[in-house]
Amino acid sequence: MGPLLILIFIFGAIIGSFLNVVIYRLPREEGWRRQLRSLVSPGSHCTGCERSISWYDNVPLVSYAVLAGKCRHCGERIPLRYPLVEFTNAALYVFAGLVFGLEPTLFPALLFISALIAVFYIDLEHYIIPNVIVLPVAAAGLVTMIAIDPGRWLELVLAGVISAVFFFLVAIIKPGGMGMGDVKLAGMMGFFLGRSVLVALFLGFFLGALAGLGLMVTGRKGRKSRVPFGPFLAVGGIVALFVGQHLLGLYLGLFNQGM
Ligand SMILES: [Zn+2]
Repeated sequence: MGPLLILIFIFGAIIGSFLNVVIYRLPREEGWRRQLRSLVSPGSHCTGCERSISWYDNVPLVSYAVLAGKCRHCGERIPLRYPLVEFTNAALYVFAGLVFGLEPTLFPALLFISALIAVFYIDLEHYIIPNVIVLPVAAAGLVTMIAIDPGRWLELVLAGVISAVFFFLVAIIKPGGMGMGDVKLAGMMGFFLGRSVLVALFLGFFLGALAGLGLMVTGRKGRKSRVPFGPFLAVGGIVALFVGQHLLGLYLGLFNQGM
């Protein structure tokens, strides 16, 4: 499996490099057509000097190290986010390869990971979760997950619908906290995770509450009065992808023993 894992890592880093384009450009455009077009043109260029970036300066992870994090022409700093996204995506792809093996379920898992990484950074910076990511990925997730295991169709559909309805209720009861983006994201996660989505939602709320507490204690809340919820859901989703079934099993086991 060794050489294969290296290939998966390289593939993950390349997809991560594309995610950087998604994270930077999608939230700066309006409308699906313009957003999708922004992903392919214009080609990569420095945001400092506008010069286009040659292929040899655009190699995932390697170029950032070779250029010491600066544009070759103007010396503008390349945000640390670029290698971070490439590395995170690559490492999680390798981890997924180890957990799921070369089975059909690996492919929806990779799609889920990359979508959540993009949502994590976009929501963190712009407070939006683009429909153009969440809706097609939700549809693709539901279709592939049902194709892989048709017996789970009802569980997957219910997990998505109930998660979305739950967030919708939270959003209308407590306006300003959750947005419609979180509603759709929760639904998308349900389609991929099935009942493990419970673990993802629980972790999301738990991490969100911890962060809120942290901001209160350190008195930094005034600087950024609103904390986006999508990043916490995204982290919860990735944890649930890998250990959700296991945690749920443990929990249900404890519960049954107590009865
Ligand atoms: Zn430059």
